[in-house]
Parts: sequence; C-alpha cells; structure tokens
Amino acid sequence: MNEAVRELVKPSVCPLDCPDTCSLSVSVQGDRITAIRGSKVNPFTDGVICNKVARSYPEFVHGAGRLMHPMKRVGPRGKGQFEPVSWDAALDLVHEGFSRAIAQYGPQSVMPFNYAGPHGELAGGSMDRRFFHKLGATLLNRGPLCGAVRGTAYTSLYGSSPGMPPEQARQSDLVVIWGNNVTVSNLHLMRVLKDAGKRGVRVVVIDPKRTKIAERADLFIQIRPGSDVVFAMAAAAELERRGALDRAFIEEWTVGFDAFMDEARRYGVKQVEDICGLSADTLMEFVELYAGAENVAASFGNGIERGRSGGSGLRAGMALQALTGNHGRPGAGVIAKPGLSAPKTTERLQRPDLVPDGTRTFNIVDVAHKLLDKTLDPPVMATMIYNHNPVCTHPDQKTLIKALRREDLFIAGCDVVMTDSLAFADVILPAASHFEFDDVYGAYGQNYVQRAAPVIPCVGESLPNTEIFRRLAARFGFDDPIFKDDDAALMDAAFDGSDERFQGFSPGGVPLERALVMTAKGGSEPVMCKNVFPATPSGRIELYSEDLEERFGYGVPRFEPVKRDRPLILISPSSDKRTNATFGGCAESDGMEVVEIHPDNAAERGLTSGDQATVSNERGKVTLKVVVSDAVLPGVLYSPKGTWLKTSATGNTVNALIPSHIRTDIEDGACYNETFVDIERSA
Ligand code: SF4
Repeated sequence: MNEAVRELVKPSVCPLDCPDTCSLSVSVQGDRITAIRGSKVNPFTDGVICNKVARSYPEFVHGAGRLMHPMKRVGPRGKGQFEPVSWDAALDLVHEGFSRAIAQYGPQSVMPFNYAGPHGELAGGSMDRRFFHKLGATLLNRGPLCGAVRGTAYTSLYGSSPGMPPEQARQSDLVVIWGNNVTVSNLHLMRVLKDAGKRGVRVVVIDPKRTKIAERADLFIQIRPGSDVVFAMAAAAELERRGALDRAFIEEWTVGFDAFMDEARRYGVKQVEDICGLSADTLMEFVELYAGAENVAASFGNGIERGRSGGSGLRAGMALQALTGNHGRPGAGVIAKPGLSAPKTTERLQRPDLVPDGTRTFNIVDVAHKLLDKTLDPPVMATMIYNHNPVCTHPDQKTLIKALRREDLFIAGCDVVMTDSLAFADVILPAASHFEFDDVYGAYGQNYVQRAAPVIPCVGESLPNTEIFRRLAARFGFDDPIFKDDDAALMDAAFDGSDERFQGFSPGGVPLERALVMTAKGGSEPVMCKNVFPATPSGRIELYSEDLEERFGYGVPRFEPVKRDRPLILISPSSDKRTNATFGGCAESDGMEVVEIHPDNAAERGLTSGDQATVSNERGKVTLKVVVSDAVLPGVLYSPKGTWLKTSATGNTVNALIPSHIRTDIEDGACYNETFVDIERSA
C-alpha cells in the first residue's frame, strides 16, 4: 500500500474541558484523522473514551466548519461574511485594531475574551497570556463562568492540596455522587463505581435528575435544584444528634467546628421537606448509610455550583467528610482536585509579573455589561475571542450578542472552527487543533501528566495558538526572548521537571507512551491527612473560613433563597453530544435540542413527547423538543447545554433564558440553574 494512504495509529491526549483527560489512539491516513479510540497509556482512562469524541472529533478537524485561512469581515457585523486574507494581512489588522484602541484609551481598552477551550498547558494559556500581560490589557477572571465556585469551596476547606484520586473509590464502602452526571461528564469514575459495585460498595446519588448512575444507585435522593446546602447541613446536625461525628478527628484536624455546627443546627427535617422537597426518611436513610460506613468517598460535580447557594452547598457537602473523620485512609475523602498533585509552574509559563501595576480585572460573567457600559473608563474598544464560544456558553445570551454587535468594538477571533461567536469578528485567525501541535497535559480529575505530539500537519493555513501569539508579539515589537520561546521551551516552563515524579524527563520530553503518575511524597497514593495535608492558613481543614467571611460574608455555609417568579425551573447540565459548546457545529448536534418535563407539568399544558415547545421568560424564547419523563421532578425542566443558535427557531438557545445578575454566594459565579421559565406548545 502507498505510504501516503497507509493507516498509522498514533498516540494523543484529549484536550477537552473534561476531568478525565483520556489518552487517545488516533488512526491517521495521509494528513487525515480517520478514527479516534481510547488508549491504555493512561491507566485511569484505560482504553475507554466517550462517544462524543469518537463520533465528532474527526468531523471537527476535517469538516465543513473548519477554518482553513485567515479571513476579514466584508459584510455587516454578525452576518458571517468574510473573505480570505494572508496571515500577514490578518496580523496587521489585529495590530491596527489593538493599536487604535491603545492610542486613544490606553492598553486596558484591550481585553482578551477567552476561557477553557483546549486544556493543554500551551494551548490553554501560555504565550497568549504572556502577550496580553505584556500589552497591559484588562485581565479576565474566568473561573466564575464555571469551576471557580467548586474550586474555592474545596480550597477553603483543604487549601491547594490534592484530594482523593478517583481510583481510590474502589477502596471505599460508600460512595456519594453529588450533582455529578458521571456517565456524561466523568465517564471513568463510572467505571470505578461499576467495579466497586461488584464488591458490594454502596452508592448514593444526590441529583435533581434521575441520571443513569442514579438508576443504579442504592439510594437516589432527587433533590430540588439549589437546595444542597440545606440537605448537607441538616445531615451534619443529624449526625451530631446521633453521636456519629468523629470528635477526635475534628479536634486534631479541623478549625471552626463550633461556628459551622451553630449554623448547621438551624437546619432539620422541616427545612429538608420544605426546601429540598425530600422526606424525613430520606434524610435518615442517608445519615444511617454515612454513619455506618468505614470509608466514604464523595464526588461533587459542577451542578451544585450553578445556584445562588452553590458554594455553600459544596462546602457543606464536603465538610461531612471531615465531620465524620472520612480522611486519613485510602478510599475515604473528597474526590476533587487530584490534579493539584502535579508540580505546575504556571507563573513561569504565563508570566503574570509582566502585568502593569494597577491593571483592572473583569469577572468574565460581567463582560457583556462591561462592553455595553458607556461610563466605563477606559471603555473596552478591542477584544480577542479565542478558546471560547461565549455566545453559546454565557448567561444572558441576548445581551452578549448585543455587546458583540457594537460597531465601534474591534473584535479579533481565533478558533479551530467557525462558531456563533466568531461570526461577530472583524478578523478571524484559524487555530490548529491539538492534533496538530505539541502540548503537555495535567488534568483536573485525575493525577497523571501526559504529553502529545502532532498526529497530522496543521490543516489548511491554521497555526497553533502559541505561534499565533509569537507572531503577534513580534508585530507589537515585544523582543524579549520569552516571546520567542518555542513549544518545547514552553512545555518545560509548564511544570517543575526537576520534581522526582518526572523521573528525569523534562516536561517537554515525557514519553508519548507513558502517563506519569503524580503521587504523594515517597511514591504512595495521595491520602488527605496521611501523606498530603491541608494547605490552609491554619494547616487544618477549615470548617469556618476567615477568607470567605472577609471576601463574601460566608465564613460558614448557609442557604439563600432566590425569589421564584415563574412556575418552572430550567436546569441545563452537560450534554452527551458536546463538551460545553465544542462539537455544537457537528452533525451529531444538528436539529432541535430536547427539553425534559415531568408528566404532571406536561399534562397541565397539553404537551406530549415529540411536541415542539417554546420555553420562555422575560429574557427570551427558545424552541425545544418535548420529552415527557419522570426522570425530572415536577416543577423542573432539563435541557442539555452548549447548543448553537441554529438549533432553535427563535435564534437563541437556553443561555438566552439564564440570568447573569443572580450570582453565587462565593466567587460571584454564574447561576445557570436559577432560571425560571414558562413552557407552552409552539404555535
Ligand atoms: S471528553 Fe472526557 S471522556 Fe471524552 S475523550 Fe475527552 S477526556 Fe475522555
């Protein structure tokens, strides 16, 4: 067979915003990817990947949506009319657009608008950060869009110390899966649970939706969205009443017990019934399981953080582990942040020291309003959207679209494929997919470091993010050697390669057929309070957080009700077709997205499965296909997130219904699940 068409199988790593960071085997013929499978390089992911990557990634790389050339806008903003230009011309346009803003309003009138598209250390944030830091652009706090609330809830208790790697749940006798649809967004934890189930390990699932894992659970607690803190605090109080708290552990390893329990004792059966919609028996059954288990592992998904009391819900749920002494042994602990084991050297990679003193920072959730704020000094006059599809992922979609329509705003866009957000750009820079460049990967849901090399050449004229920003830095005359670092140097800057767990490999030299496990000191698996320790100011697990009290007034968790002004609450969790909005342009995501509705609510409105319905509130309208199902509670609608505008006849997705003014208790995060709506059959 001709060498050019012979199929080769090459190693890679999945870069998507997913905790698992699978190792991949990529089949390549010539310059094309023909198939993607799991590889066994990473023992945690062990040859298994999700369907969406296998189905949609080849199309994402080679399909009709792929951006092949730099382009400039030639029609009205947002209409998607572009014509190809050379790289030189495109970079000149970016230089002109940014320079015009800087000349009139200073460097803070430029703002990067990026999030977590690819999770490789280089593509995710390296030369781009150096560039914007040196430019003196406005800084962006990206975590409040997703992840920061859960992250801060964890670090407020444990500091930046790694939690339990998911594999350890095999050694538990009770696993609590709280607000985490593991079959969709934490696939390999599902495999651990299957193994554990064979050994008789009990599983409790707490979720507003009866997910697949909920159907298999020993106890499924179908909780009302946003009420997790009430349930967790009531459980803490009930455990205390039964004498089931571990007083010796609390004495040795925690601070703030009294303040925490003073608040927890305010919650009991009545609040659980009224606010969580759960029975006293359910609370008691949960407490009995917890109190009777030797080693409890608890996993918390991002679902909890998407409500007003999300940070409190997460803190209270995690704190149950400390209150019951579920630390210090393999299989007991919070399955969270195992990736903190890796010796990342992010400051060396991103160079925040280049940021001029006094540079302002915007919360990413506020961007639409900042762009429209006529009193802002200086105004944002130029931005670059990259690693992000904000139109399909931010709350309050219509306001964001209005902001991106601003005629006097210069917008550069950079992505692998054309998106609903890039349609608003003045100039588009085609980015290479991660299959086309080198990168090194930590993970946020497991504790391995992996590296990937290109498996195909850059498609069309696309370039890796690092090269795009190297060229931009040169255009702006940034001649410091750090702006000339090649990808090998950047990979070496991403981790401390002298760490013994790198086994003598430089980060840029990690063998492609190896995943390096980031153990605790001495090579043992990380176990909180045994060989890794709380990295909090007190050195203990902080049930009362002085930092959260000072910054947000939430030293201990508490419930904050949100006024409900429409009959139904809409939740929009992960999809099994997309990772956030990635793959939203692929065939698998064509057509209208579904909305699940409880049979009682459907009957009240004369809706049956297959109907087309309009879901609406004061912010907008979306058309969705009805699925009548008792997997959702009465009063709750469920529709997967990340759809693109073409999927709804109204030209808006569920993000148009989501408020941006309601914020989480800690970290000022987006409250995707505080979305109150009506639903009716579409006319
Ligand atoms: S999206 Fe997650 S589960 Fe799917 S291949 Fe990537 S890392 Fe693995």
